[in-house]
Amino acid sequence: MSRQVVQAAGTANSGAGNVYWHDGIAALVPTSTSPMAKVDVVVIGAGYTGLHAAITAARAGRATQVIDMHELGWGCSTRNGGQISPSIKPSLAALTRRYGADRAKAVRNEGYRSLEWVGSFIKSEGLDCDYQRCGRFHAAHTPAHFESLVRDTERLGREEDVPFEVVSRANQHTELGTDAYFGGVVLKQHASLDPAKYFSGLLDLAKKAGVAVTDDCPALDIKREGNAFIVTTPKGDIRAENVVVATNGYSTGLVPWLQRRVIPIGTYMIATDPLPKALIDKLFPTDRVASDTCKVIYYYRPSPDRSRILFGGRVSADETNPAISGPKLHHDMCRIFPELANYGYTHSWTGKVAFTFDTLAHLGQHAGLYYAMGYCGSGIGMASYLGMRLGQQLVGNPEGATAFDNLQFPTRPLYFGKPWFLPSVVRWYRFRDHWQIKRAAGDTRVMA
Ligand SMILES: Cc1cc2nc3c(=O)[nH]c(=O)nc-3n(C[C@H](O)[C@H](O)[C@H](O)COP(=O)(O)OP(=O)(O)OC[C@H]3O[C@@H](n4cnc5c(N)ncnc54)[C@H](O)[C@@H]3O)c2cc1C
Repeated sequence: MSRQVVQAAGTANSGAGNVYWHDGIAALVPTSTSPMAKVDVVVIGAGYTGLHAAITAARAGRATQVIDMHELGWGCSTRNGGQISPSIKPSLAALTRRYGADRAKAVRNEGYRSLEWVGSFIKSEGLDCDYQRCGRFHAAHTPAHFESLVRDTERLGREEDVPFEVVSRANQHTELGTDAYFGGVVLKQHASLDPAKYFSGLLDLAKKAGVAVTDDCPALDIKREGNAFIVTTPKGDIRAENVVVATNGYSTGLVPWLQRRVIPIGTYMIATDPLPKALIDKLFPTDRVASDTCKVIYYYRPSPDRSRILFGGRVSADETNPAISGPKLHHDMCRIFPELANYGYTHSWTGKVAFTFDTLAHLGQHAGLYYAMGYCGSGIGMASYLGMRLGQQLVGNPEGATAFDNLQFPTRPLYFGKPWFLPSVVRWYRFRDHWQIKRAAGDTRVMA
C-alpha cells in the first residue's frame, strides 16, 4: 500500500522549492551588501561559471566583483543532481559534418578535459564536497535502445578511448535493483559530488582570492563608457573594464543577443524519505550515478551518505511549482523502483538549465562582454571548466584558448528568449518514451 507522500514546502530563501543539498551547508555569506563602485572585472551571476571566472581573474591580480540578483547559491549550481559527465551532446560524426574532423575531435576532447579538470581542481584545492569517481550506469528503456546504446558506446571506446562495461539485462541487478530496464552500460569515468558543498567551497576560494561578492544585486543595465562598462544595479553603479555575463538558464533581456541564443528549460528533482539501508543497498548495490536512454531522461543516485534516493527528470518543460512536479516525479520513480511506493519524499525542487540550438556550450565575447553558457543540462564540469577558461581569456592568458572559440552561436528566427515550443515538444517526447516503455514491457511478456 502506498504511504502518504510528504509534500515539500518551499523554503523562504529558495523561491523554487526545498532543495535537499541546502540542508547540508552553512549559510552562504556575501562579502558586502553593496558592490564596489570601480573594479577591473564585474561578474554577473554567482554560479559555477561566474565563480570560476572570478577566481581566475582575481588570482591573476584583477580587482573583481561578483553580483547575483538573488541570495548566493540560488541558481542551478546548488540544486543540481551532482552527476558529472563529459557534457558534449553531439556525436563525433555530427560535429565532423558541422566543423570538419579536426575541430570535431577538439570539441569532443573539451568534454573529457572538463571532466578531468574539475576532478583535479577539487583535489588540488582540497574542496570537501563528496567528490567520487563513481561511474555511471546508463540504462536502456527498450531492447532496441540497449542494442544502439551498446553500439554507440563501443564506438566511443574505439574512437575516444572511453572505458566502459556492458551489463546485460540478466546481470542488471548488480548495478540497479530494477527490472524496468533492458540492460545498460557502465561509463567508468563519470563522477559525482554534492553540488552545494562544491559551490560553498568555490565561494570560499573566491573570497580568499580577494573577490568581492554581493547578493540581492541584479544587473539592470550595461552601458559602454569610453573603454569601460557601467553596470547599473539598485545598489549603485559599477564601473569595470571587463564584464562577464554568467547567467545561463536565468538569462534575461539584460543582453538580448544572449537571451536569443539560450533556451531556458525547467528540470526537477525530489529527495525521498530516509530509507532502510538494506533497501538502498538492494536498489543501488554500487555508488554509481544512474540515468537512462529515454529522450526525456531520468537521472538519479543515492545521496552521498546513502540514506536517500535523489531522483530527477523533466516531468514538464515550464512548470515552476515544485508542489506539482514532486508527485509526478514520485510516480515515475515508483515505476522504476516499485518498492519506493511505500515511501514519500521530503524535498522537491526545480531549476532552469540553458539549452542551445546546436546543443553545444558557448563561450566568447559579444560587444565586448565576456560570456559562457548553454551547458544543455550538464554544467557541473563544463560550467566550471569554461568559467575558468573564460577567466584566463579575460586576463590574456593564452592557456584560455578552447575548441569552442569562434564557433558560431546560433539563434532562430522569431526566437526572443521565450521557448513557446518547449511544452509541446517535451509532452510529445514523454508520450513517445512512455509508449516505447509500455510496448517493450508487452514484448517481454510475450517473450517470457
Ligand atoms: C534540478 C537540476 C539538476 C541538474 N543536474 C545536473 C547534473 O546532475 N549534472 C550536471 O552537470 N548539471 C546538472 N544541472 C545543470 C547545472 O547545475 C548547471 O548547468 C550549472 O549549475 C550552471 O552554472 P552557471 O553558473 O552557469 O548558472 P547558475 O548556477 O544557474 O547561476 C546563474 C546565476 O545568475 C544569476 N542572474 C541571472 N540574471 C542576473 C542578473 N541580471 N543580475 C545578477 N544575477 C543574475 C541567477 O540568480 C543565478 O544565481 C542540473 C540543473 C538542475 C536545475
